Amino acid sequence: MGECGVGNNSAARLKKNIISTGLCSGCGACIGYCPYIKCYGERVAVIHDCKISEGTCYRICPRASTKYADLRKETFGSIELDMVLGNYEMISFARACDESIRRRGQYGGVVTALSILALETGIFDCALMTGGNFNGAKPIIAACAGDMLACAGSKYTASPNLSLFQEAVKKGFKNIGVIGRPCQVTAARKMQQVTEIKGEKISFIIGLFCMGSFSPEFYQFIKFKGLDKYEIMDIPGDVVFKRKSKETCLPFEEIREYIRDSCLICYDPLSELADLSVGSTESDYGWNTLITRTAKGVKLVEHAIVNGVIEIKEYPGKLLPLLRKAVFNKKKRVLERPDATYLKLSAREKEFFLVTGGGSK
Ligand SMILES: Cc1cc2nc3c(=O)[nH]c(=O)nc-3n(C[C@H](O)[C@H](O)[C@H](O)COP(=O)(O)OP(=O)(O)OC[C@H]3O[C@@H](n4cnc5c(N)ncnc54)[C@H](O)[C@@H]3O)c2cc1C
Repeated sequence: MGECGVGNNSAARLKKNIISTGLCSGCGACIGYCPYIKCYGERVAVIHDCKISEGTCYRICPRASTKYADLRKETFGSIELDMVLGNYEMISFARACDESIRRRGQYGGVVTALSILALETGIFDCALMTGGNFNGAKPIIAACAGDMLACAGSKYTASPNLSLFQEAVKKGFKNIGVIGRPCQVTAARKMQQVTEIKGEKISFIIGLFCMGSFSPEFYQFIKFKGLDKYEIMDIPGDVVFKRKSKETCLPFEEIREYIRDSCLICYDPLSELADLSVGSTESDYGWNTLITRTAKGVKLVEHAIVNGVIEIKEYPGKLLPLLRKAVFNKKKRVLERPDATYLKLSAREKEFFLVTGGGSK
């Protein structure tokens, strides 16, 4: 018998342990691997029984048993770790040099600029990204600079981008990039562990910072409030909606209830397993915070700087303790939750957050 008395049938376990409990993050990974799992908008459903035990759908789910030490070892070659920020080589402020990218980007446009560069230099031949707008996110296989530019801007809902992995494979793409939220980054790392057919692979991962995404009901809320007429949404603290010269603002408390349950047990707000992670600076919204993590990530960023694709400046010393504190508190909150059972961490790591309470590492 498997977990919760549902046998070893993977789709049944996915349904019972992840989807029915509200723990599905809407990453989309399982959908691409199984004809019996579909997404309806951003809701995932198992539509037919499947007899396969230990199937890929459960294995790659970021909310099923996740051994971070193994994933870190696979990704970084060692488990040397900054327990708060994850493994990293460099943290800096960064922005795209191209003003048209900055104008379209959520903040400094670094994700868009680096994605286009990765495409042009053959690091990937397409990337799974999010098109549409905050009022209707849409997963996209972006295979040209124009597609990537059209994906600029944050949509604060799930957007199951990974559902398109197998479609990208069928279209003949061999090196597939993933741009996504931390749950999508974790799923992508798990997908890399699955023996892939014919050599197609996930070749590069850009992770976003993410303190939470909104459930599909959020779309109804913004429609009801007439906010769907706006073009841009941002959350610098309160929630801001903008169009041309018009702007309106809602207190965050008004939308807190729409945060997906799955995000409440997310231990990874900075996409720690990505090749590089990108977020806001929380101070200067024309710039991003950029964290380079793997050797591949460092190489792309160095190439981008030398070729005038992005510019960087020093991460202000006074901000680092604030970033650490926000991430430390988020991780501690998650570890205190009895429903965060998918997390498989070392006793040392748990102790760091729950007993010894931080420090610099
Ligand atoms: C749900 C969500 C929550 C976030 N929360 C935080 C936070 O708490 N703190 C913080 O500092 N930053 C957060 N971010 C990240 C931030 O909004 C920016 O995406 C990031 O700083 C990159 O900015 P940019 O100017 O380089 O992006 P751009 O150059 O505009 O590129 C944005 C990229 O994000 C991708 N994208 C957009 N929406 C989604 C989505 N729903 N799922 C997956 N990919 C998507 C697009 O494909 C595009 O490539 C969040 C992003 C999302 C999507």
